[in-house]
Amino acid sequence: MTINLLIMYGGATLASFLMCILGRYISKKWSVRDSLMKPSSCDFCQRRLSFLSYLPLIGWFANLGRTTCCNRKLSRSYPIVEFMTGVLLLCLVLNISLL
Ligand SMILES: [Zn+2]
Repeated sequence: MTINLLIMYGGATLASFLMCILGRYISKKWSVRDSLMKPSSCDFCQRRLSFLSYLPLIGWFANLGRTTCCNRKLSRSYPIVEFMTGVLLLCLVLNISLL
């Protein structure tokens, strides 16, 4: 059971990382060096994120779907995509078909 949660959280973490890279690519701020070395910042005020905000799923729910720096509302797509990617990775690892 615990290993399943770890696998699922690994999928959520992967989704969070890929959404960050995609967001930077779309906003033309993408470079290999920045994507791997530069810490994430708030989409609205550009301040550096708090530690809790880096945690996939947990950060969104702990902050009630708002940023900690400027209290702006975050999209619900973040936890949804992270959760679904976690479930997908768990299904892949356990060889469970979704169809
Ligand atoms: Zn902010």
